[in-house]
Amino acid sequence: MSPQRQPLIGKNLEELAGITAEMAMPRFAAAQIADWLYVKRVSDIEQMTNLSKKARAALAEKYTVGREAPLECHRSSDGTAKYIFSGVPGRNIEAVMIPDRDRATLCVSCQAGCRMNCAFCMTGRNGFDGNITAAGIINQIMSVDESENLTNIVFMGMGEPTDNLDAVMKSLEILTAPWGFAWSPKRITVSTIGNIKGLRRLLDQSKVHIAISVHTPFAEERRNIMPVENTWHLTDVMELLRQYDFSGQRRLSVEYTMWAGKNDSPKHATALARMLRGTDARVNLIRFHKIPGFDATSSPENTMTAFRDTLNSLGITATIRASRGEDIMAACGMLAGKDKQK
Ligand code: SF4
Repeated sequence: MSPQRQPLIGKNLEELAGITAEMAMPRFAAAQIADWLYVKRVSDIEQMTNLSKKARAALAEKYTVGREAPLECHRSSDGTAKYIFSGVPGRNIEAVMIPDRDRATLCVSCQAGCRMNCAFCMTGRNGFDGNITAAGIINQIMSVDESENLTNIVFMGMGEPTDNLDAVMKSLEILTAPWGFAWSPKRITVSTIGNIKGLRRLLDQSKVHIAISVHTPFAEERRNIMPVENTWHLTDVMELLRQYDFSGQRRLSVEYTMWAGKNDSPKHATALARMLRGTDARVNLIRFHKIPGFDATSSPENTMTAFRDTLNSLGITATIRASRGEDIMAACGMLAGKDKQK
C-alpha cells in the first residue's frame, strides 16, 4: 500500500463516515464510497462519479482505492492457484484459491508469518514479520482473478487470526455488512489454534464458522508441537466451545493433521471422540505435507481411513480432506511467503 496515501479498502462505514465528515462531504457520501469500493469495485477514486469533482479531488489527495494486484500467481495441475501479494517489508503473503466443483474457496493470510511457532507449519517455522491490515486482507479477496466468483473464504492462510483480531474482525464486518460485500457469514470460516480470549470475541461478535487446530487430544503431545498449549489448554477451549450452539447454521470443525505413528492410533481416535462429545464438531483429517525441519511423514491412507471410521463409529462426523496444490507449495502447512523461502 502507498505509504503516502492511505487505502480506502479495508475501512468500515464508520471510518468512511469519519473521512467524509473531515472533508465536509454530505453524510450519505460514506455509504456512496462504500458502494463504489465493495459493490461496484472501482479501482480509482475518479470513477466515483456521484461524488462531486471537488470531493473526489480532495479524497484523492489523502487516499487511494488501495487495490494492489498480486505479484505472482502459480497454478497447480489440480486447478488450485497460489497468489503472492506484497505483505510487509521483507515478507510476502500468500492466498490460495481452491476450486471444487461449483465452489471457489479463497484461503487468505492475516499475518506475514506467525508467532505461534507450530512445529509442523512452514509459516510458523519462518518466523513473524508483521500483521496484515484489514486493507491487505480485503485486497487479497478483491484482487485474485476469481474474485467475482468466490463462494467461500477461509482464514487459514499465513498467520493466526486471533493474533491480529482487530484487522480480522474488521474484514469480517466488511465481508458481511449490507454496505459491504453482504456475504452470509455461513460462507466464511476462521481457523484458530485456540487463544481463548480471541476465540470468545470471535464467537460473540461474529457468526462465521469456526475451525480449531487440534492435531492431538493429549496435552503433553500437543505442547511438543504447538507451544500455544502452554498458555491456552485445549480442554479449556473445548469447555468454551460447549457454551455455543453449533447444531444449526454455524459450524464447528476440528483440524487434525495426521502423522504416521505419532497421532494416528486407535487410542488417539477414542480420546479425540471423547473430547469432542457434546460439541457438534466435525473432524477434518488432513494429510501431512513434508516440510523441512519436522521429522514426520503423513499417515498411510488405510490408517487415515481406519481413524475416520473409528471416529464415525463413536458418533463424531469425520472426513479426510482432499489434498490440493501440493505441487505449488500451496497445501496445508506449506505457505511461507516467498522472500523467506528463497
Ligand atoms: S499452524 Fe497456524 S498458528 Fe500454527 S504456526 Fe502455522 S499459521 Fe501459525
